[in-house]
Amino acid sequence: MAAATRELVRREVIPIEDEYDGDVEAAGGETLRRDLQAKAAAAGLLAPHGPVDCGGRGLGMVDRAPVFEEAGWALFGPMALNINAPDEGNIHLLDHVATASQRERFLRPLVAGETRSAFAMTEPAPGAGADPSMLLTRATKVDGGWLLNGHKWFITGADGAGFFIVMARTSGEPGGAGGAGGATMLLAPADAPGLEVVRHIGTVDRSMLGGHCEMRFTDVFVPDDDVLGGVDEGFRYAQVRLGPARMTHVMRWTGAARRAHEVAVRHVAGREAFGGRLADLGMMQQMIADNEIDLAATRALLLAACRELDDGGRASESTSIAKTFAAEALHRVVDRATQMCGGLGVSRDLPVARIAREIRPFRIYDGPSEVHRWSIARRAVRRLAGDAR
Ligand SMILES: Cc1cc2nc3c(=O)[nH]c(=O)nc-3n(C[C@H](O)[C@H](O)[C@H](O)COP(=O)(O)OP(=O)(O)OC[C@H]3O[C@@H](n4cnc5c(N)ncnc54)[C@H](O)[C@@H]3O)c2cc1C
Repeated sequence: MAAATRELVRREVIPIEDEYDGDVEAAGGETLRRDLQAKAAAAGLLAPHGPVDCGGRGLGMVDRAPVFEEAGWALFGPMALNINAPDEGNIHLLDHVATASQRERFLRPLVAGETRSAFAMTEPAPGAGADPSMLLTRATKVDGGWLLNGHKWFITGADGAGFFIVMARTSGEPGGAGGAGGATMLLAPADAPGLEVVRHIGTVDRSMLGGHCEMRFTDVFVPDDDVLGGVDEGFRYAQVRLGPARMTHVMRWTGAARRAHEVAVRHVAGREAFGGRLADLGMMQQMIADNEIDLAATRALLLAACRELDDGGRASESTSIAKTFAAEALHRVVDRATQMCGGLGVSRDLPVARIAREIRPFRIYDGPSEVHRWSIARRAVRRLAGDAR
C-alpha cells in the first residue's frame, strides 16, 4: 500500500500541488478533494486506517506509518487518501466510541469521503487552549437533549464540514480548583440551527481544506442520541483521539520533511561552487547528516509509540515524547533544506518553502512543545523522585 500510495501521489497529486503552490482552495477545494479521493478509491487506497465494516482497510498504527508517510510526501496527499486531520482522528474516535446508530449516520459517510468533519475544542481567551480545563463552552440539559452555547476558534476544516464533534462543559467550573470538571462530546450537524462558522482565521498554512475557523454555537439543540460516549467523559475520550492523532501527524509531516530533504540533497549534489560540489563541503555535509539523523530518530520514536498503541496501551508518555521531538526535528529538517537550496529554497520554484510554511504550526497544535515537556517532566519527577504532588 505504501508503494501504491507513492505512485498515486507522484502521478496525480504532486503536479496539482506544484501548480497551485499548495493552496488547496486555489487548486479546486472541495472539487479537488472529490476528484483525488475517487482516484484513491479506484486504487484501493481510500481510508486505509478506517474500520473494515465501514469500507476502510483497517490498518493498525505501525502498519499505517509508511502509507501515511508516502501520502504526506505531497501536501494534498493525505486529503486524497482521506487521512487528513481532523477527519482521520475523528474516524478513529468514532470507531472507538460511537453507538451503532452514530456509526451509520456519522462514521460510515466519513470513511467513504461523502462528508467531512471537524473537531471543536479550542476557544478564544479566557477559554480552553493549551489548558483544556479552561473550557467555557457549555451544554445544558433540557428535555430530550442538550443546549450548546459557546465560542470556538482555529477549528480546522470547519467551512464545508458536514458535522462537528464539539467539546462542551457539562459540570464543574473553568480552571476550577476541584479539577477540570466534566466535559462531554456532542455531535452537531453543520445545518443545526444556531451553529455558525464566523470566519476563516488567516494562518500561514494554505493546504487544509475548510481552513481554520472561528465558530459560534448559540442555543444549538443536540438530542440525547447525538451525545458521543458518556456524559462528563469528554476529557477521557479526547485522549483516545489525541494519542493516535499526534502520531499520524508525525507520519504525514515526516513525508513532507523527507521531500524537502530529498529536493535539497539533489540540489547541492548538482550545484558547483568554490571549485567543487556544494554537497562535498563539510558544513553542507553536516546539514545533510543532521537531516538524516533527525528523520531516522523521528521514525524510531514514532514506531515505538505506535507499537504501544497497537498493544492497547494509552502511550501518553511515548506519544508526547515522539510528538515533541518530531515537531521540532522535522521543522529543523525543512529549515536546513531551505538553507541548502539558497535563494531557490525560499522561492515557489521548489516545494521547500511551502513545506516550511505548512509544518510550522505543528509545534503548536496537538499540544505545544512546552506543554508536552511540562507533562514529561512532571511524570519524570513523580517516577524518579517519588513526588506525589
Ligand atoms: C493550524 C492550527 C490548527 C488547529 N486546529 C484545531 C482544531 O481543529 N480544533 C481545535 O479544537 N483546535 C485547533 N487548533 C488549536 C490548537 O490546539 C491550540 O492553538 C493549542 O492547543 C494552543 O492553544 P492556544 O492557541 O490557546 O495557546 P495558549 O494556550 O494561549 O498557549 C500559548 C503558548 O503558551 C505556551 N504554554 C502553554 N502552556 C504552557 C505550559 N504548561 N508551560 C510552558 N508554556 C506553556 C506555549 O508556548 C503555547 O504555544 C489549531 C491550531 C492551529 C495553529
